[in-house]
Amino acid sequence: MGRQLLEMAHVTAFYGDSQALFDISLKVHAGQLVALMGRNGMGKTTTIRTICGLLNIGSGTIHFDGQDMASRPRHAVARLGIGLVPEGRRCFPNLTVEENLLVASRPGIWTCAKVTDLFPRLGERRDQLAISLSGGEQQMLAIGRALMTNPRLLLLDEATEGLAPVIRHEIWAAITTLKQENNLAILVVDKSLRELREIADYAYILQRGATVWQGDISALNRELTMRHLGV
Ligand code: ATP
Repeated sequence: MGRQLLEMAHVTAFYGDSQALFDISLKVHAGQLVALMGRNGMGKTTTIRTICGLLNIGSGTIHFDGQDMASRPRHAVARLGIGLVPEGRRCFPNLTVEENLLVASRPGIWTCAKVTDLFPRLGERRDQLAISLSGGEQQMLAIGRALMTNPRLLLLDEATEGLAPVIRHEIWAAITTLKQENNLAILVVDKSLRELREIADYAYILQRGATVWQGDISALNRELTMRHLGV
């Protein structure tokens, strides 16, 4: 296994007075793909937001590559090497595909050419406004934008939700390539159990803001998925 990049230890987080995360501990190593699973409203997006410093932690610690994140301002997150693909595939609607990629760019191996190698559809639409793209293409663009920041940790929040099967397949293929070729640490929130089984190394299942199961994804049997995910 590669070096440990992300470590959350005993993290709690709140929306106002309402506690959303209870004692969350998780780790992601370089080259590892970790799945964060659970039914709707169980705290997956909140966990991702907390890692990015968008939500303050109540107690516990978050370390990225050995550095304590608590003391880091939000804008430092990308600079540290954390690339977020948020739920809802945000990009700038009135910029072209290429402009969307370029404004996200930070020094490193990822360039527009490398992103369009990964997602040829984006290459074909390089000069189109983002608003004219399909939902799946916008999702690819959101992933491309995160890659342009040259992250060491990529956070993908529901990157395949609601997309057509052919597009979902292309996105999973791209994630597989990223894992195999780039030694990236990847934390994925997704409900696609079949695909996660193929490429994830490890999984955490959340229920009401707490971890109810963790282990190698190969150990996630029918009884567990039925009990914790309802599928
Ligand atoms: P989904 O798959 O539906 O996105 P999730 O597992 O990502 O679900 P979260 O979005 O993290 O779940 O929500 C966890 C809990 O926090 C839920 O009870 C939700 O109602 C609450 N919550 C989420 N966002 C806010 C907010 N901005 N203010 C207050 N409570 C919130």
